[in-house]
Amino acid sequence: MTNSKNEVSGIDSILNYSPTGKPVVSVYLLVDRSRVAKKSYQTRLNSMIAAGREKLETDVNFDRRQKKEISGIFERVKSFVNDNFKADNTRTLIIFSSGDGLWEVFRIPIIMRSKIIIDPKPHTQNIRSFINNSKRYGVLLVNREKAQIYSIYPGGISEYLAALISDVPSKVNFRSQAALREKKILGRLEDKLHHFFKLINDKTMELFKDKKFDYLILGGRKEIVPNFSNYLHSYLQSRHIGNIDAEPDSNITIINEKANKVIDGFEAKTKNSLVEGLISEYNPNGMGVLGIEAVIKSLMTEQIKILIYDRQFIHSGYICSSCLYFTIEKKDKCPYCGGEPVFYNDIVDEIVEDALNQGCEIVDIEGNEKLSEAGSIGAVLRYKL
Ligand SMILES: [Zn+2]
Repeated sequence: MTNSKNEVSGIDSILNYSPTGKPVVSVYLLVDRSRVAKKSYQTRLNSMIAAGREKLETDVNFDRRQKKEISGIFERVKSFVNDNFKADNTRTLIIFSSGDGLWEVFRIPIIMRSKIIIDPKPHTQNIRSFINNSKRYGVLLVNREKAQIYSIYPGGISEYLAALISDVPSKVNFRSQAALREKKILGRLEDKLHHFFKLINDKTMELFKDKKFDYLILGGRKEIVPNFSNYLHSYLQSRHIGNIDAEPDSNITIINEKANKVIDGFEAKTKNSLVEGLISEYNPNGMGVLGIEAVIKSLMTEQIKILIYDRQFIHSGYICSSCLYFTIEKKDKCPYCGGEPVFYNDIVDEIVEDALNQGCEIVDIEGNEKLSEAGSIGAVLRYKL
């Protein structure tokens, strides 16, 4: 398991990785409990590693030392997955590792295709597309002396954004002061707090303009938060989705836990209204499609803006081995290139993978009856054909 500090800085160091000359192994493993049992994804990992070893043996791009390092990484990945890993709500497990100590683990809340890639840099195309097209949540924690701000991506990946400290003294000894002087100090104190709150607001607005987050959660004591909310810029107020009881110094794991509860509630609401809009507006207007056949058709013409699917939805189908044409009907030959269609028990994760490659937003949803009745999968389109 990564510790919370790693997780805070991890994603940035992966996305901005500079090659060190050591090969980086990127492992993507589909571990979604509603699709695969632990035994099956362990088997899948073993066979990917076996294939990787075989390829490695004849690969002239790596010298003997590098091959040994890669082999060591394979072993470490295997024992991590077999001994230390529980899928819980993770749909895709991603591990990046190299011979010079790189070891980053990410738990991604959407399904991706299992694969192992060895390159001078981490293989990040899909994780990048996922992050770029997901909503980010800023968590601003405030007390009278300090403020901290994080941003949380879906799946609990967090990035530390800023810390601010006020020069307001933490304790003023009132006992020795005369009543009048006490009032004066209090006045000055509130004045300083006022300035501090303004400073926090400005900094937060700056981060928002830099697109560091889309929505904002406030944290602090009950007496602080309503007071601070009055300072929030109107843009930020419209992005403010809830509060948590946490302090700037609180443990990041606890902050994440509390913030994720607020996020889950907010996302459930927005996802359900997205489905509502898809069914009652986009689909009738030709700006949306419902059902797997229509989704595949739109995917092949690269029309999809947002792909929406039920988390439990599984469907078999065929994918052309040479041009990646998708279909749910059995065909002898690919209608586009004449290549051979290959059968898949589940092509939903392949659809998601392809949509990610195209830079689509991916929305998975749980227990929405209207979506199930409409075929369990649908999409909002970029344009009509
Ligand atoms: Zn084809």
